[in-house]
Amino acid sequence: MGKITGFLEYARQTAPERTPLLRIADFQEFSALPSPEELATQAGRCMDCGVPYCQSGLMLHGMTAGCPTHNLIPEWNDLVYRGAWEEALGRLLKTASFPEFTGRVCPAPCEGSCTVALNAQAVTIKQIERAIIERGFEAGWIKPQPPVKRTDKKVAIIGSGPSGLAAAKQLNAAGHHVTVFERDDRPGGLLMYGIPNMKLDKRIVERRIALMQAEGIEFVCNAEVGANYPAEQIRQHFDAVVLCIGATKPRDLPIPGRNLANIHFAMDFLRENTRQLLGGRAVPAPISAHDRDVVVIGGGDTGTDCVATAIRQKCRSLVQLEILEQSPSVRAPDNPWPEYPRVYKLDYAHEEAEQLWGHDPRDYAVTAKSFVGNAKGEVAAVNVVQVEWTVGPDGRMRPVEVPGTERALPAQLVLLAMGYLGPEDQLLDQWSIARDGRSNTQASPDSYATSIDGIFAAGDARRGQSLVVWAIQEGRAAARECDRYLMGTTDLP
Ligand SMILES: Cc1cc2nc3c(=O)[nH]c(=O)nc-3n(C[C@H](O)[C@H](O)[C@H](O)COP(=O)(O)OP(=O)(O)OC[C@H]3O[C@@H](n4cnc5c(N)ncnc54)[C@H](O)[C@@H]3O)c2cc1C
Ligand code: SF4
Repeated sequence: MGKITGFLEYARQTAPERTPLLRIADFQEFSALPSPEELATQAGRCMDCGVPYCQSGLMLHGMTAGCPTHNLIPEWNDLVYRGAWEEALGRLLKTASFPEFTGRVCPAPCEGSCTVALNAQAVTIKQIERAIIERGFEAGWIKPQPPVKRTDKKVAIIGSGPSGLAAAKQLNAAGHHVTVFERDDRPGGLLMYGIPNMKLDKRIVERRIALMQAEGIEFVCNAEVGANYPAEQIRQHFDAVVLCIGATKPRDLPIPGRNLANIHFAMDFLRENTRQLLGGRAVPAPISAHDRDVVVIGGGDTGTDCVATAIRQKCRSLVQLEILEQSPSVRAPDNPWPEYPRVYKLDYAHEEAEQLWGHDPRDYAVTAKSFVGNAKGEVAAVNVVQVEWTVGPDGRMRPVEVPGTERALPAQLVLLAMGYLGPEDQLLDQWSIARDGRSNTQASPDSYATSIDGIFAAGDARRGQSLVVWAIQEGRAAARECDRYLMGTTDLP
């Protein structure tokens, strides 16, 4: 244990960030890292409690509590406190495939379950994780590690998001010949074209891909298996397949006026913006918020990233519609520790909007009824109404419209960010792969095997749209089962 009384002596200190009004001028990352001394102090707040829920990765009331990859958090906190950074890196890499991603974008369910958070502020686990891996890169401790021995087995990974990358890394380490197929022009999945640059600089993704290539993994981009790359060829040339195609089918909003111009799915907006930035071209992007009143429909991560992107594109005004009621400022009695805390907080985009316009852009307990167009067939406004959450006849909570609360919000750009309906059908249908009740790929969390022999599934394609850390955990676990299938036994963790 770091410092026995550390949690009593030191307050939580998070990473310095560029101020909202400064950072909205560009798309660069906004959070930096504290000094090694400050990080050691923060690591010294870890109690090394007997039952570290921070590393449990439990599902409690449908939400993640603790780290899904079971990172050995108290151990690396202790090593950082003692200045043993290289050893801390070794402990971190025992369970974490890509801490440089999770250390930036993970919502840190570990911190919600931290024992210090029972009556004080959690240890800054995510920040320490990022610091350890970045120190590893800077110091040259991270080097390509190709396998010592190769097997004669060939594995195709379809999809290069965090689950595909994690599966590829593990199977390559086991000695198999691994090829990753990606339909987009760059690997990374939502790490590349979903999560915006200010949360995860794309050079960080490219750094990892280069390392994996140096370890012997082959990436084939612009190859959509089942479309411009024949699915049958995969089955003929590879001994096993891991399907990591994500869950990118967006939920639509079929209300009157949906066909008007300038109503887009959020991912089209975010993807094109990133593509534009990577191509070195200036914004406004093809779908532009520039000088427009923007309405984002959906209050989750995707919607929040749209808010931040629209602000950087210099929108005129912005409202983010959220059908749920605003969360309480402290944990409600039905949301005890160590569950993930469902409390009101300002995410980075909301902080920026508040600084810019003086208020949180989220409009709670409200739903869109229809879109209104102008003479050119473009969206001009969104009609909305307040809702009240009441218990329905089936005993479940449901939103009921409040009469007399209808109003119109001006909008020349509407972004639909209401979640996802599972993986796209084309490839799954071609291979006749069974689905579960939510249209995700059917594969148990023990075997990760689909209904077709030799085809495994991991990440959002199996569990539905989730988190980067879950995708990584699933990629690692599916790789282990795939290795067992190929070799009859496995040494993968
Ligand atoms: C806008 C947005 C923001 C998010 N922010 C966060 C966040 O801050 N923190 C967090 O933890 N999670 C976040 N998430 C969720 C997270 O990104 C996903 O849970 C995670 O990326 C899932 O990883 P995956 O590998 O399963 O799938 P994906 O990342 O979706 O990757 C799937 C890949 O498969 C490719 N593909 C699909 N079909 C084929 C085919 N037939 N042939 C070849 N390639 C194919 C796709 O092009 C894609 O590259 C966010 C999601 C979105 C949409
Ligand atoms: S991956 Fe996420 S949950 Fe796990 S230690 Fe890092 S920040 Fe916490």
